[in-house]
Amino acid sequence: MIPAGLTVIQVLPTPDTITIVAISDASTAACPSCGRLSRRVHSTYHRRLQDLPWQGRAVVVRVRARRFRCPDLACVRRTFAEPLSGATVRRSWRTCRLGDLQRHIGLAAGGEAGSRLARRLAMPVSPATLLRLVARSPEPATPVPKVLAVDEWAWRKGHRYGTVLVDLERNRVVDLLPDRRAETFSAWLRAHPGVEVIARDRAGAYADGAAQGAPGVVQVADRWHLLRNVGDALRHAVERHHAALRRIAREVAAELAAERVAGEPASKPEPTALERRRAEARARRQARYDEAVRLREGGATLAAIAAALGTPPRTLAHWFATGHAPLRDRGPAGSILDPFRDYLERRYAEGCRNARQLWREVRAQGFQGRPTIVRVWIGRWNKAGSGGAPTATSSHPGWKPPSVRAVTRLLSSDRDSAPDRDQRLCARLLEEVPELAAAADAARRFARVLRNESAEPLADTLNAMKGTLLDSLATSLERDAAAVQAALDTPWTTSPAEGQINKLKTLKRAMYGRAGFPLLRARVLHAA
Ligand SMILES: [Zn+2]
Repeated sequence: MIPAGLTVIQVLPTPDTITIVAISDASTAACPSCGRLSRRVHSTYHRRLQDLPWQGRAVVVRVRARRFRCPDLACVRRTFAEPLSGATVRRSWRTCRLGDLQRHIGLAAGGEAGSRLARRLAMPVSPATLLRLVARSPEPATPVPKVLAVDEWAWRKGHRYGTVLVDLERNRVVDLLPDRRAETFSAWLRAHPGVEVIARDRAGAYADGAAQGAPGVVQVADRWHLLRNVGDALRHAVERHHAALRRIAREVAAELAAERVAGEPASKPEPTALERRRAEARARRQARYDEAVRLREGGATLAAIAAALGTPPRTLAHWFATGHAPLRDRGPAGSILDPFRDYLERRYAEGCRNARQLWREVRAQGFQGRPTIVRVWIGRWNKAGSGGAPTATSSHPGWKPPSVRAVTRLLSSDRDSAPDRDQRLCARLLEEVPELAAAADAARRFARVLRNESAEPLADTLNAMKGTLLDSLATSLERDAAAVQAALDTPWTTSPAEGQINKLKTLKRAMYGRAGFPLLRARVLHAA
């Protein structure tokens, strides 16, 4: 019951605290400066240590501790306090075993919630102290990974970037680095020899860091980053022909309008069950708004309308101020999926179309929605064509020509599943701007190789880009050719790192913004 090395003298219970009076078992103590043992007691004093609770009551150990005289007259220290080792550490207000327990509460629950929980468990501790205990946790021993993914993450959005290192074979975070510099990464690699493969984004700090810190290692460029590079290069090419795109879009729109007038019904897909439900909800909101307006025009007060409709007065005031029915039509993949969109997008681009699998992956990252939400999201991507993005519902009459970004997506994918008018626009654009046709063709070939849909040698694919609007991209890819080739030859990507970053964001939110870097790192390494 009593901490190691102490002997109980007296127990003093009160209704909510138990005080245990104790003395140390040791007859001697070592001087912290010179290390010599002393048995000459100089004086005694009381030291209070919080200990594990007993029967729901907080326990305080009051140790009658001694000061010893150092036997060495030449020592800088005349007297010293006995250390009570085993029971506590220097200058601490708690016993080791209590600190250990509180540290685990902090790891699991964070500062604020952990502090509340600890109070309920009769071992009160402030949030700040809890976080300090967590930050001082001993590092868990993790084996050096053979296959490592490295990626950046914003730990103060837009301000500070750190680096996350993930063991790809175990799918575990192995470390967090406080910045994204090549030197920091290479220092980590030198301190952890044994890494054989490094998956990273395109050439940059991490490529340099890997080359400096682990020269023999196989570097793998991340497929998703490569796909994005190609997409960006093609988009710049489209932007250069923006004027032509706008003109052709106007012509196609005029043709479509003429065809509609000529009696051809504009093709409009059957609404899905979901779209029907949304339309009904919209109608209900409109009806409520209309009713509110009618009541107000009849002279009713806000409170009376609120009572009649069951809508809070503040909400009503907002409706009247905006002058229309509440819009709130964010769709099924609304805000709760937002933090995971980047991850899903990249997994989709990698070829994973299994809703259940993707749902399991984002759930592990903290997504709390149902599988249906992910399935609906995939359905919209599929409808937009492979490599395309979900477009807004096409329930608007008339046609809003696609943006440069959307046109880029259409040009870099097989357009068979795209709406007829978009196909018409793209075909016309490629016909009139051969330069763009050559670039789009080269981009498509490269994307197909990256997705393992084509066995064309990388060198040929890059050659095809030469002399087109993608020329400078081809040059930079050639400089990084070994890592790009490794992306085709190995299964490794940085996707798991992206997933771990989502988990990290969830952890950070649970820490109520108090998360300094050391604390966040301690929690991530212990939570893995
Ligand atoms: Zn001494």
